[in-house]
Amino acid sequence: MTDEALEPTVFERIAAREIPARIVAETERVIAFHDIAPQAPVHVVVTPKSGSYRDVVELAAGDPELLAELVAVANGVAAELADGEFRLVFNTGASAGQTVFHVHAHVLAGGLEEGTLAG
Ligand code: 5GP
Repeated sequence: MTDEALEPTVFERIAAREIPARIVAETERVIAFHDIAPQAPVHVVVTPKSGSYRDVVELAAGDPELLAELVAVANGVAAELADGEFRLVFNTGASAGQTVFHVHAHVLAGGLEEGTLAG
């Protein structure tokens, strides 16, 4: 294991309340909070509290129930903060725009423009 892997991720630190965030939903294993740099009228990050999985491919293989829980939380967030319809984006890999290597979904909703990736 590398030193990097021993360091808590930024999202683990948000889940532990070490870094402030505007939290909008939480279950035992999943947390959702407003993205610090929103790309859409509603832009919420939904992530497992544990950083055990780097990306959605690892999560789907390792804990599909947790992935399903993450999708359910995303759906609830979109119902609460928008009209229930949403985009769910998992950037996977640095060249695809992933900057935080702790699996997370972007919930993008609310007046999204046609034809753009992130609203
Ligand atoms: P990625 O680029 O890995 O798909 O997404 C990481 C997201 O996390 C970015 O949209 C970025 O704005 C968001 N982010 C990074 N650090 C923080 C933080 O400390 N607080 C919040 N609320 N969002 C963050």
